[in-house]
Amino acid sequence: MHQRFSPQPTGLTNTTIPYASLADTCNSETLVTHEEHDHYYFRALERNGIYLNQPQIEAVRHKDGPLLTLAGAGSGKTSVLVSRTGYLIQVHQVQPRHILLVTFSKKAADEMKDRIGQLPGMNLSVTSSIQASTFHSFFLTILRSRGYSEDIISSDRYRQMIMKQLMRELGVHDSYQPETLLALFSSYKVNLISDLPSKTEEEKEIKTLFLKYEDWKTRQGKMDFDDILVKSYHLLQETPALVNALQERFQYIMVDEFQDTNLIQYELIKLITNSSKNLFVVGDDDQTIYSFNGARNEFILQFDQEFSNAKTITLDINYRSSDSIVGLGNEVIKHNQHRKIKTLKATKPSRFQPMYSRPNTTDDEAKWIVEDVKQKIESGSHQYNNFAILHRTASNNRAIFEQLMIEKIPFILYSGTDKLFYDHWTVKPLIDYLKLSLDPRHFDAMDGIVSTLYIQREKAMDFIWNKEQNGAKKYPLIHLVDYPGLRSFQIEKVKERVRLLKECKDLEPVAAIKKLRQSFYDKYLETEGKQQATVQKEDIKEMLDELEASAKRFITISDFIHFIEEIVEQHQNMKKGSFTNQQTVSLMTIHKAKGLEFRSVYLIGASEGIIPHITALEAGKLQEAGPKEAARIKIERAIEEERRLAYVGVTRAKEELTILSPAYYRGKKVEVSRFFLEAFQKEKVVPKRASSETVLAWLCSKEGCIAWQRITNYEEAETEITKECPMCKSPMKKGPKEI
Ligand code: ATP
Ligand code: MG
Repeated sequence: MHQRFSPQPTGLTNTTIPYASLADTCNSETLVTHEEHDHYYFRALERNGIYLNQPQIEAVRHKDGPLLTLAGAGSGKTSVLVSRTGYLIQVHQVQPRHILLVTFSKKAADEMKDRIGQLPGMNLSVTSSIQASTFHSFFLTILRSRGYSEDIISSDRYRQMIMKQLMRELGVHDSYQPETLLALFSSYKVNLISDLPSKTEEEKEIKTLFLKYEDWKTRQGKMDFDDILVKSYHLLQETPALVNALQERFQYIMVDEFQDTNLIQYELIKLITNSSKNLFVVGDDDQTIYSFNGARNEFILQFDQEFSNAKTITLDINYRSSDSIVGLGNEVIKHNQHRKIKTLKATKPSRFQPMYSRPNTTDDEAKWIVEDVKQKIESGSHQYNNFAILHRTASNNRAIFEQLMIEKIPFILYSGTDKLFYDHWTVKPLIDYLKLSLDPRHFDAMDGIVSTLYIQREKAMDFIWNKEQNGAKKYPLIHLVDYPGLRSFQIEKVKERVRLLKECKDLEPVAAIKKLRQSFYDKYLETEGKQQATVQKEDIKEMLDELEASAKRFITISDFIHFIEEIVEQHQNMKKGSFTNQQTVSLMTIHKAKGLEFRSVYLIGASEGIIPHITALEAGKLQEAGPKEAARIKIERAIEEERRLAYVGVTRAKEELTILSPAYYRGKKVEVSRFFLEAFQKEKVVPKRASSETVLAWLCSKEGCIAWQRITNYEEAETEITKECPMCKSPMKKGPKEI
């Protein structure tokens, strides 16, 4: 057997492994002497094992005025926020109720509270009066205190169901994917855009759906997560007394992961920051990974322009990871052009180097990881919660998810949906066709496929049932040829499908899927919806290719279906919480892993097309009609965001990092991700300094109003539409903006 793991990516030989230089670890023990007035606080931190370095001490001691800590991964940004909170309370006698800490996720907020609780001199009454929450939970509390009693729609599935219902009412049933429409609406809301484009028919339809959705929520007394921020924004705009009260209460505001703040969040924070501007933000422009959700890197990069007296502190020592992991992170991210240049030093010499691996398929990749985890557990050197397996997109985890279940490794899936791959709307009808080919009287499966014949599901099934009472058929689907109102081409389609089922029965599952796709299914997905506008065609293709990759492992359809049923059953058990109270491996997208750290990380799918993701590589395609330069910039931007994702993934690891690059992805040969090959290139790529750049933007026409919004979307850039200023409601005009 060839060596599965090696210290450099496949294809490279005799390269130099990148190591970060080791930092001089001079710390508070020597930097804060006993003569200083606040030495007791640092001594207490040291007794708790926290030895801050010079810039960290400076940040912790900072009291009044705006401050930005812009620093690389693992350099102690979150630790500084926590220690400064303690310092404000212990040394400056700030009342805990005057402190507000805003974090990105509930998990991060909980961790922060825990860490504050462990600081010297803290007790429960102190920690419970500090506000540490996410943007959403903080502003929801405000809305509640003002009598907003709307129910929060927290389930994505419920929102999608409502959206489907509204589409049905509008007669555009099945025209769009509800989840994609909801994401689009969200992007309008977080960017404070209330006037949706309505030039084309499609835009008009989408706008009507948007208004219907807003109206439905109002009538039902409900709001979604974006509404929490939008309603808070309007409430604050209209209620100066409330703004004053909040400014009075929260005299010290701190924001973690500031690089991923979107426009509405930033506006809200600015509104509640009082005239002394005690706003302390920490973040890393190299870790902006939520651009698709409206995050704006420029907020962190231009913080000192927004707050002219802002102090900036840079941290450049990574305390999290070994020097070979920090070294790799440095080498990966240095290839981004649009960034503040920083090179992290490390504090921990490596016991292990990052390892690379080139399994053939994602299923081999999954097997190798699970074997490795099992070996380490059996040797007694690791526990399950030491491991995290990180993947690029929610749909990239099919193979590893299955393998963990098959091998009964306790794990928690943290990423968005816990929906099984085989239940996805693009995949499930094909599984149902396979089931029907084996058992043509499988009514559940039939239920899942009738809409692919463009017949309304419930009515079609009722019709089949009624017909069955008078004369059962071996292929009950054939009853549909008598369905009232069918046109002749539809009748032909029914017959054709029954023929297809018969033909598929004895094929290998992958051949059957290919046949179904080629005969009608790919086309059906394409024409069935207007997904072109809203869903990336690539996403659909990716799911179906993945299904083929999964099916390829089985010789008969019956084996494949049997396997899926087993997975479905195990998944049910898992959802019932069979792993609660156990130590678990974390399986999550890189996005979810932001801010977290693990002793051992497997970064899977480090191949071209996965990371960087195919949608980034082809980002310019959608703008074929637009200028070439614009398409090039769009691709470059998209690839830089992918590189930041790779960087976030690498920098989650403390001791061990394994990067796996499957050679075949969904049946196609794929190269090792450029991000990891580049990291081994000898010649240093010197990034251009992002000093200033002129971009196209919306500029408010009212004198004195400073509002502007960057135009990143080509429709917006090319068309004649005007726009209303989100701040003062005056008209905005397009023009150049130097940033
Ligand atoms: P990220 O960019 O991933 O959010 P971060 O900059 O917020 O990282 P932290 O999570 O605060 O970094 O710190 C990373 C690790 O380094 C943590 O385990 C923390 O306890 C440790 N650490 C931070 N500062 C020090 C220090 N001065 N001495 C020792 N350990 C430290
Ligand atoms: Mg952090």
